[in-house]
Order: sequence, then structure tokens, then C-alpha cells
Amino acid sequence: MQRPYNFSAGPAAMPEEVLTQAADEMLNWPDASGQRCGMGVMEMSHRGKEFQSIYEAAEADLRELLAVPANFKILFMQGGGLAENAIVPLNLSAQRAPAGEQGTADFVVTGSWSDKSLKEAAKYCHTKAVATGKPEGFTHIPDAATWQLSPNASYVHLCTNETINGVEFHALPDLKALGSHAELVIDFSSHVASRPVDWSKVGLAFGGAQKNLGPAGVTVVIVREDLLGHALPVCPSAFDYKTVADNGSMFNTPPTFAIYMAGLVFKWLKRQGGVAAMEARNIAKAELLYAAIDGSSLYFNKVSPACRSRMNVPFFLRNEALNDDFLAGAKAAGLLQLKGHKSVGGMRASIYNAMPLEGVQALVQYLQEFERTHG
Ligand code: PMP
Repeated sequence: MQRPYNFSAGPAAMPEEVLTQAADEMLNWPDASGQRCGMGVMEMSHRGKEFQSIYEAAEADLRELLAVPANFKILFMQGGGLAENAIVPLNLSAQRAPAGEQGTADFVVTGSWSDKSLKEAAKYCHTKAVATGKPEGFTHIPDAATWQLSPNASYVHLCTNETINGVEFHALPDLKALGSHAELVIDFSSHVASRPVDWSKVGLAFGGAQKNLGPAGVTVVIVREDLLGHALPVCPSAFDYKTVADNGSMFNTPPTFAIYMAGLVFKWLKRQGGVAAMEARNIAKAELLYAAIDGSSLYFNKVSPACRSRMNVPFFLRNEALNDDFLAGAKAAGLLQLKGHKSVGGMRASIYNAMPLEGVQALVQYLQEFERTHG
């Protein structure tokens, strides 16, 4: 049976091979040699040898896929991207603060998610929006040369792919070249593993798993070792990166099943040829979809071409009265969850790693057919 194509922004489509494997292993997990252990992954102690082997493979595979340097820790946490909006300032804001004073964090506001990060961090440190794309409706990324960076900021926060607005950084800024001594913090929730990361520019990256890595419930944090150990005294122990790192992400019980599922996705990504191969496919998928939208007189996308997201493609119908018919027809054609985020309206097609080219081709065919019959 061919499953419908699922364009959800997250939780999002998983590779079918991964779901099939997890179903096969649900009641009785086999180790690498095929030996079944009599338990499902949800039922295992996180400290037992079975889960330890799952954890170690997941960490090693993610390190290999993202080419994470040895001086960075990979943490598997809980709380999602929104919890990290608090956990990051709790851990990093004191880095460069004068003794006894609150630190400062800079934010480049390019959409809804970085805007939320700015507001949450203000509970824990001084914050500054050093640039914002809000006046233009979050359709572009303000040129880095215009960012009003603070001289003493501990870190600069970017959301490198704005899931709602469909705005993506296609290169990371070099903060040193911009005269800042701050660390770069990136929220890469919605494009992690869709393209390589230039770790030479990054101090910390975080992302919820539920778009490109696996099910909801696990948050990946990748942090340079020298940034550990500076948490504010009020930071909860379970959210102190040093405590989490020193305990191999097992200070508290980790989200074992979500880590296992993400581990299966990492193996799947390796079988696909790794992140560079995924990037080439993601470019091809995004080009196909944007070309169909730009070439149409019914649909349009508002984002400047230079910063359009390869993962989340928001688009609108010029005749909004057709929205319901569009969505009903899409569903009937096996194209699910295309409705745009409630804050922006219109449509959104999320085309993460697990979306095959055939899914985007089917969407483009539907866009053209709907325009022919309704345009
Ligand atoms: N950052 C980005 C870029 C996101 O897309 C999301 C969720 N859509 C979040 C943060 C928040 O993640 P969570 O709901 O897992 O806290």
C-alpha cells in the first residue's frame, strides 16, 4: 500500500523503512548480531547494556553524520526547542558578563521562533534584538553588516531555519569578522541533518527531533566543551549542560524510545549517503517546488529568493476563497497537512529529509492540475 505524502511541519513524516523496522522490533529488540533480547526498547533500563548500545550507536552516528568535532559534546535532552530558549541563557549568558552582573545575549530576529527565543531569554539576562526582519513581514534576513552587535554579549542567537516563515540562513555569519567576541548559538530544529554545519563558527546548536531526526521528545544539543560549567546558580540541575554532559545524558532518565527512533533515522541517513547526499536531494526538491510556485499565476511565495528555506515552503493562493477546496483536493490526492501555520495563513509544504522527490513531484502535479481547473 502506498502511504499518502505527509507535508507536516512537525511532528513530521518519518522514513517508512524506519517505521517498519521499529514495528518489527517493538516487542522484542534484536542487537546488532540479530539476537533478540526479549524486551521492547520502551521496557529496557536506560542503564542496561542493551540501551547503552543503542545510545552509543546513536551518538556516534550523529557525530559522524554532522561531522561534529571531538571538542563538542552531543547531549540528548528533553523539553524541545522552547525549553532550550530558557536553558541556553541559563547556561551561557554569564560567559562574558562582568563579575556580579547579568550577561547579555544578542538576537537576530528573522521569524516567529527567534522572536520567541528573544522573549524567553529576557527572563534570565539582558537581551538585544540586533536586527529584525519584522517590518518586512519576515521575508528576508537583515544583512549581517547592519547587525548592531553588543560589545559584551555572551552569545548571538540565530534561528537558522524559521519553520513558520520559511526563511533559512544559507551561510553562517563569522562573528569575529563582524567584530563580536560572542559565541554563535543556532536553533537548527527544522533543518538539522539537511545540510552540513560549519562548526568553526558555532558554539552551540540545538534542535528538537520531531522534524528531521525522529519523533518528538528528544532535543539534541551540540555544545563546545569550553562553554560548559558556567550555568547560573538558579539553573535546574537537569538542565545544566555540564551535569548532563558529565552523566552521558543520563543524569535523569533520557527519552529512551525517542533516542532509539532517532538512532534508526541516523542509520537510514547513512544508507542514503549521509548529509551531503541529503543536501543535494533537498536542493533538487526545493528548486522543483519553488519553480512551480514562481511559474504560476495562482500561487506565490513572499520570501526573498536568497533566503528561502529548503525545508519549509510557505505559499499562498491569490484567491484565498479557494483555500478550502485546495486542501480538500490535496487530501483526496494523497497530499496531507498542507495547511499553513495559523499565524501566517495560506499553505506550507514541509519537505524534510524523509520526503522523497516523488512526493514533491506529486505536489507539483497537483498544484498545476488545481490551477488548470480553478485558475
Ligand atoms: N524552534 C524551531 C525552529 C521550531 O520549528 C520549533 C517547533 N516547531 C521550536 C523551536 C519549538 O520546538 P518545541 O515545540 O519542540 O519546543
